[in-house]
Amino acid sequence: MAVVRTVELPSGVRVPALGQGTWGMGEDPARRQSEVAALRRGFDLGMTLVDTAEMYADGAAEEVVGEAIRGRRDETFVVSKVSPRHADRRGAPAACRASLRRLGTDRIDLYLLHWRGDVPLDETVEALEGLVADGSIGSWGVSNLDVDDLADLPAGARPQTDQVLYNLTRRGPEYDLLPFCRERSLPVMAYSPVEQGRLLGHPALAAVAEVHGSTPAQVALAWVLRRDDVIAIPKASTVAHVEENRAALDLLLREDELRALDAAFPPPDRKQPLDVL
Ligand code: NAP
Repeated sequence: MAVVRTVELPSGVRVPALGQGTWGMGEDPARRQSEVAALRRGFDLGMTLVDTAEMYADGAAEEVVGEAIRGRRDETFVVSKVSPRHADRRGAPAACRASLRRLGTDRIDLYLLHWRGDVPLDETVEALEGLVADGSIGSWGVSNLDVDDLADLPAGARPQTDQVLYNLTRRGPEYDLLPFCRERSLPVMAYSPVEQGRLLGHPALAAVAEVHGSTPAQVALAWVLRRDDVIAIPKASTVAHVEENRAALDLLLREDELRALDAAFPPPDRKQPLDVL
């Protein structure tokens, strides 16, 4: 199996800096085999972190992941998410059991609160710690939490990541969230790193891509991956896109190129509330 650059989680576990998303997978049975093949090609290339959620396709994305990891569980790092309405003392264990069944495994490596809902964070953290204690999950983290939400976590809580929307068109986290997390050695997981494809027609990306003989998607990913405390999880449902994305790890953007991208996509100069998709 290919080796890729890794990022260390607070637990000391190292995960690939480039993983694979699954939102939108599992929605059409006719596409299932190609989705499984794409994920497995990603594993071959070292993109062994796979991100899913109970919410995606009402659980069917977890089933796609389950099929992709079958026979390869030891080489993969499975991230799934509990929906906020299930993130209480009773709901979380039941939701986790259902996810484990769909994934066909006895352990989720990293289980995230999908976003903050009505359940008090203290109760959610207690429920997630309970799942760590009984071995259903290896560790827990959060998603879509801004700085003030992270500050509301109970004292002593040790999330392994905050998964947030971060890409060239969504640079708000650079103002406060990324520094806050870096200070606490908490890696951020960047979702929608190519803005679900909407970013790819931008001329500034095309200009940088042309110099490197690469593609706009690779430049967008390389830009997210320029930071050593960020994990990117693009979703790609074809082998060609997976291979293209993997190559982004080898693309190093030069200072002048980063400046050109700053001009086209200015960094934040004030607090911006965390965007959510
Ligand atoms: P994304 O990864 O930015 O974009 C996915 C889209 O880009 C798909 O249409 C894909 O097409 C296309 N694409 C991928 N690689 C490409 C390439 N090399 N060239 C051209 N197009 C390419 O958006 P996302 O799926 O929203 O985000 C990634 C993952 O983050 C999700 O799948 C999910 O696991 C996670 N996420 C989490 C949250 C949260 O609230 N925590 C929210 C959103 C997403 P094909 O599918 O045709 O390859």
